[in-house]
Amino acid sequence: MTGIKLFPFNRLLLFFGIALFSIGLLHLFSSQVIYRIPTMSPVLFPAITLFLMIFHIMIACFMVMKYLCDKHRLYLMAIACAFAGSTVLMLGTLISYSDWLLCASPTHARYNDAILYYFFRNILMSILFTASIFLYRYRHSNIHSRRNHIVILSLCIGFTLFILCLSWLYSSHYNGMTLYLIDNLTQLFSPLWHQYLIGGMIFIWCVTLTFMLVMTRMRNIFWFSGYLFCVFYIFTLILLLPSVSITGYTWYQARLFETVATLFLIFVLLCDVFTLYKESNSRYLRSYQNSIRDTMTGLFNRSFFYDSLKNQMAHVSPDAPLSVIVCDLDHFKRINDRYGHLQGDKVIQFVAEILQDTMSQGSMAARIGGEEFALLLSHTDASTAHSIAEQIRETVSESSHEHLPEQVTISMGVYTATQPQATHEVCVQRADEAMYQAKESGRNRVVLWKE
Ligand code: GH3
Ligand code: MG
Ligand code: MG
Repeated sequence: MTGIKLFPFNRLLLFFGIALFSIGLLHLFSSQVIYRIPTMSPVLFPAITLFLMIFHIMIACFMVMKYLCDKHRLYLMAIACAFAGSTVLMLGTLISYSDWLLCASPTHARYNDAILYYFFRNILMSILFTASIFLYRYRHSNIHSRRNHIVILSLCIGFTLFILCLSWLYSSHYNGMTLYLIDNLTQLFSPLWHQYLIGGMIFIWCVTLTFMLVMTRMRNIFWFSGYLFCVFYIFTLILLLPSVSITGYTWYQARLFETVATLFLIFVLLCDVFTLYKESNSRYLRSYQNSIRDTMTGLFNRSFFYDSLKNQMAHVSPDAPLSVIVCDLDHFKRINDRYGHLQGDKVIQFVAEILQDTMSQGSMAARIGGEEFALLLSHTDASTAHSIAEQIRETVSESSHEHLPEQVTISMGVYTATQPQATHEVCVQRADEAMYQAKESGRNRVVLWKE
């Protein structure tokens, strides 16, 4: 009861609306084309079949690759078998029209074989689609052991081979068995085709569509393309229902519908690839940012600071000096002792924000220790670096009153490199030495490194 209640009937209506609209549009378009072009080239039908065959093998390969990337999607292998089998049967159809490579009208076409392959193709695809729906429905249950995968894959492949063998046995290639569906000379369909097989195929596709709708519950666009595939095949068979002969344009329309349904499925698969690419790219960017940033302050971390400094040292020259500022909070331990570590963290975050706000393009701020920070200022000479440091020092000591329980001050050491020979370690070491001089000379000050 709840199952029926939860079924998304609004989506079902939307789907049938879209499907019927597309069918109407395609039917109108194909009828207009047929009306305007009185004779079709003899190679057109085999050419469309060739394209369709290529699309089907592409889909089969895609499904296998997707399954290999995520083994929980075992249901895709049933679909892969359906499309791979369909490709082989279409190849059989092309061989039945052997004259088409000469661009001539088929004089020796084996129409019965072509129709036979079409029939078996429908049976193969609809049954394997149904199998895929069951596998999808029970994808979270205990079917994913290695043994079960082997059994299910063997069943899918075995069934595909069985249908292929059966179609070969019934074809003109083997004389022991025959299935008379059309007269090769008069090109008129047999009563078996008319009265039973077309109706049977429509029925089996309707069952597949119903199963697909009920079991997948219109969950995503992948299954949406599956429903469209079924609806188009059903409509194709309905179109073929009244035709008494293989001549006429209905088969062209049938192929058009098949091609559109297949192209839509390929489009959905491509969308899926791009969605996955987008997701994995943003996941990569997020984890990259996490690897170069300090989680508490959002500033760059120590290793990224050292890497960037190392890279930038190669471009240093008297015209392009590089300044490093090392900062350390004064008497920070006292803040922790008096107000607790949580308040201490807030102080660190407060100072980090000031540093970040002061940074312009080409400069970066990093947290290189507990309450120690470093700034990298490219194309910045010593006096500019000194005034930037002074500005930061003033902002910290003046604004800390308003936001923190007591005044916080900071000591800073500045070193400016003008030659690329100096290593990045030496730069930080000299800025550090200057910072210790600031501590020793009374704290809350900026000291420029001097030899
Ligand atoms: P000064 O630098 O002026 O000489 O004195 P100080 O008190 O700042 O010196 P010291 O470097 O000895 O103390 C740093 C303290 O910072 C010690 C440690 O408990 C604290 N600390 C380090 N990392 C963190 C952190 O992430 N959060 C908090 N709350 N405290 C931290
Ligand atoms: Mg310290
Ligand atoms: Mg300190």
